[in-house]
Amino acid sequence: MEIVLRGGRILDPQRRIDRIGDLIIRNGVIHELVWEPHAVSPSSQTRVIDVTGKWVVPAWVDMHVHLREPGEEYKETIMTGTAAAVAGGFGAVACMPNTKPVNDCAAVTSFITRRAFEQGHCHVYPVAAISKGLKGEELAEFGELREAGAVAVSDDGRPVMNAALMRRALEYAKAFDLLVITHAEETALSQGGHMHEGVMSTRLGLQGIPAAAEAVMIARDVLLAELTGGRLHVAHVSTEASVWILREAKRRGIPVTCETAPHYFTLTDEFVEGFDTVYKVNPPLRTRRDVEAIKEALADGTIDVIATDHAPHSLLEKDTEFQDAANGMIGLESALPLVLNLIEEGVGDPLDILAKVTWNPSKILGIPFGSLRKGAPAHITIIDPNAEHVIDPETFQSKGRNCPFRGWSVKGRAVMTLVNGLVRYPFP
Ligand SMILES: [Zn+2]
Repeated sequence: MEIVLRGGRILDPQRRIDRIGDLIIRNGVIHELVWEPHAVSPSSQTRVIDVTGKWVVPAWVDMHVHLREPGEEYKETIMTGTAAAVAGGFGAVACMPNTKPVNDCAAVTSFITRRAFEQGHCHVYPVAAISKGLKGEELAEFGELREAGAVAVSDDGRPVMNAALMRRALEYAKAFDLLVITHAEETALSQGGHMHEGVMSTRLGLQGIPAAAEAVMIARDVLLAELTGGRLHVAHVSTEASVWILREAKRRGIPVTCETAPHYFTLTDEFVEGFDTVYKVNPPLRTRRDVEAIKEALADGTIDVIATDHAPHSLLEKDTEFQDAANGMIGLESALPLVLNLIEEGVGDPLDILAKVTWNPSKILGIPFGSLRKGAPAHITIIDPNAEHVIDPETFQSKGRNCPFRGWSVKGRAVMTLVNGLVRYPFP
């Protein structure tokens, strides 16, 4: 079985390749890149796909999603979540452990990997819990979880409040080459808050979460990473102070990486003005100044990854008072144009920005994604960078409708997603 992607703009952030050519896929792997147009003469068995004017890039990787299965299938399932992923241009996702039951043992990790294999539209890499039941008291069995297929550990949604336990997690994870993903939040500061603490929260009369609640915890965790030498990854970075701590930590050679999400470089706390619960997320939407700092950190490489933190909820959790509403937004099917917009805004060139959704998360997780080199598995996204459209969550594959970008006019979309050389989107 051979596929030729003909005449596209081939962008490989890993090797900094950006040129027009043909990409040949044979038996699920990248067989060759040919730079002379129409140099390959296809056999009768070859499927030729004309991708003139399109971008041919490594399949996108989202290292932070919530698939809600097992336990909350009314919000999302592995099947619907991965359908949303491929429709959004992603060929792999890493799913967080706050399911019901929590993914803190091999039985749950194996359930997820088996389910993903049977029903998934793309690859699913489970992130297991740091602590049993996400309680922050006792570490989970990292060796067993690693064996069952976990690529990282995190108590995402909750911070590990006990610094000694976090230290042990970093040491223990190091022994199994597991990444520790921290949800950085000092709950003594954030507790009771519904949005960013500032001018807007005062005006709206909502209790706020100070930016320091995030930065304080990041400072603790980078110091623990320095102490232990364990690999730390900071989830959903949202503030200016977080950025300067991370920049300094990297300058000192501490083994730390980090991510932000599209809403943290696109939206501000001003959107909360109408009390629409779609804008309720944790960490909360910050100020314009924070948004600018996040963009600067994306530009200078302090922020390695863009992940969506795709967090589907049903109407039940969102159609309520702002104070009572659940935190979270969906992101898999709206991320691509928002990320490409960073290129338009001059935050980075296409290769720099694409690296944050392809090669960087793959390298950090240690998964075979993010590269177009010869012999690599053919995980590829074809993008039409000029496709103008209006974001309409009613057309989404995700069960979630909690999308803050409803009605936005945007540019750029995934027109095809291939996983292991097979077309997984558009759906047959
Ligand atoms: Zn999350």
